[in-house]
Amino acid sequence: MEIGEMEILYTPADARRYVLQRQREGESVAVVPTMGALHDGHLSLVEIGKQQCDRAAATIFVNPTQFAPHEDLDQYPRTLEQDLQRLQSLGTDAVFVPEVAAMYPDGCSTSIVPPRVANRLEGQHRPEHFGGVCTIVLKLFQCLPCDVAVFGRKDYQQWRVIESMVADLNLPVKVVAGEIVRDPDGLAMSSRNRYLSVAERQSALVIPQALDQLVSQVTQGQKDVALLQANLLRSLDGGGIEDSARVDSVDYAVIVDAKTLEPILELDRPAVALIAARVGATRLIDNRLIEV
Ligand code: AMP
Repeated sequence: MEIGEMEILYTPADARRYVLQRQREGESVAVVPTMGALHDGHLSLVEIGKQQCDRAAATIFVNPTQFAPHEDLDQYPRTLEQDLQRLQSLGTDAVFVPEVAAMYPDGCSTSIVPPRVANRLEGQHRPEHFGGVCTIVLKLFQCLPCDVAVFGRKDYQQWRVIESMVADLNLPVKVVAGEIVRDPDGLAMSSRNRYLSVAERQSALVIPQALDQLVSQVTQGQKDVALLQANLLRSLDGGGIEDSARVDSVDYAVIVDAKTLEPILELDRPAVALIAARVGATRLIDNRLIEV
């Protein structure tokens, strides 16, 4: 099926045929994997795909294996009509929208053990998550044997996990990362932001604000990671000031090596500050690279 010039691919066989045909014609193909409920962050990745390759395709698939039983798989926003419109008006060449049964047929039992960089942080708080992510991303690369795959730095650890998997398994795809796209108030765009009430959204703003404060402390010369992390936590708790905006709980707020995500004591190498926190029932993640 087509919407305007954009091809809608429903089956793995159609997807594969599409990419191989383009490549046979001498064109390169970029793929942007998503779970839909698209916002400008996702669309910025499609723009990068278009810059990097002759053709840009997106995938929309809410992958069940990366959700734990208590997580929001059933409630995850699904806005396919609108997503297809947005992709089409951006000039996306193709979109792969497989059914769950096409990606996980009955009896399907193989999965990927994620690389070491998956073990900490999100990996500790969501133990099954990266196994599901790696498995579906590898399967999507099989369906769409693309030249370039674009991921967002919003999911910083996920990007590093995919990068490692691609290297470890000699996958013939170049992984490119796009910057975090934020709303004007500073909140990183996320499909889950729509769950936030007006008051919760105000509280959630302490997350980018805490990262801004961290950067200004680093700019002033602070290099002690323990101290910076303590300040980061304090900022997320509204600076300890009664009645000020704060998150409800923090899964982690750390400053770690930018590539391995291992702990560091001092800012003596490229680092990243990573936050996962809850506001009401919504779990939000954000991060900031800290160049030294
Ligand atoms: P998702 O649909 O949440 O699985 O995200 C699909 C891709 O979009 C992932 O590579 C995300 O990192 C990326 N992404 C999500 N939000 C943003 C954002 N605000 N800015 C840039 N990339 C994003």
